[in-house]
Amino acid sequence: MGASNAPAVVILLGPPGAGKGTQARMLEEKFGLVQLSTGDLLRAAVAAGTPAGLAAKAVMEAGGLVSDEIVLAILKDRMAEPDTSRGVILDGFPRTAGQAESLDRLLAEAGGRVTAAISLEVDDAAMVGRVSGRYTCADCGEGYHDEFKQPANAGACDKCGGTAFKRRADDNAETVRARLEAYHAQTAPLIAHYGAMGVLETIDAMGSIEAIAEGLGTIVGRVSA
Ligand SMILES: [Zn+2]
Repeated sequence: MGASNAPAVVILLGPPGAGKGTQARMLEEKFGLVQLSTGDLLRAAVAAGTPAGLAAKAVMEAGGLVSDEIVLAILKDRMAEPDTSRGVILDGFPRTAGQAESLDRLLAEAGGRVTAAISLEVDDAAMVGRVSGRYTCADCGEGYHDEFKQPANAGACDKCGGTAFKRRADDNAETVRARLEAYHAQTAPLIAHYGAMGVLETIDAMGSIEAIAEGLGTIVGRVSA
């Protein structure tokens, strides 16, 4: 690897709450890669009125799901634009083993391949604790946590002295656990696919943002060199 002039294609895999968005922005800045999320790609292609964008628009207006074929056509168009010459970070695609295989074929047509699929690994139990313990001051929005950051004076906000606090309904333990289970079920076939290809990398995503960024940077620096 590394000898090819094909742009780097990095796939980031990680559950909600693992900090994928923050890390993708870091990789964009550090390596000149462009993050491509399926939603943004579709919106841009529809707005630009490309043939694939128009096809996607028709499907969406009819209330349907945009097919893999159309998404791949849009991705192919986008990867032909000069700003992606260093490479791309794919976010939200592929989602299935079938999509991963279609992506492999698309990249192979241009002499490329997925250079790294990086899985941000989380400790599920710790994630549930981290997310489900969050609450905020109802007055000023200051963030607190049952375990990691309680107000200095119990029951009163450090910032504004407010005594009303709120929790997001979808931050409770069951919801977080269900989100993680759905993530693992959806991602397992991709992990297997990229593992078999020899491009799977894993990062411990429970550390600090800086530590995760450093680990990711090392991997991407190696594969995009
Ligand atoms: Zn407050």
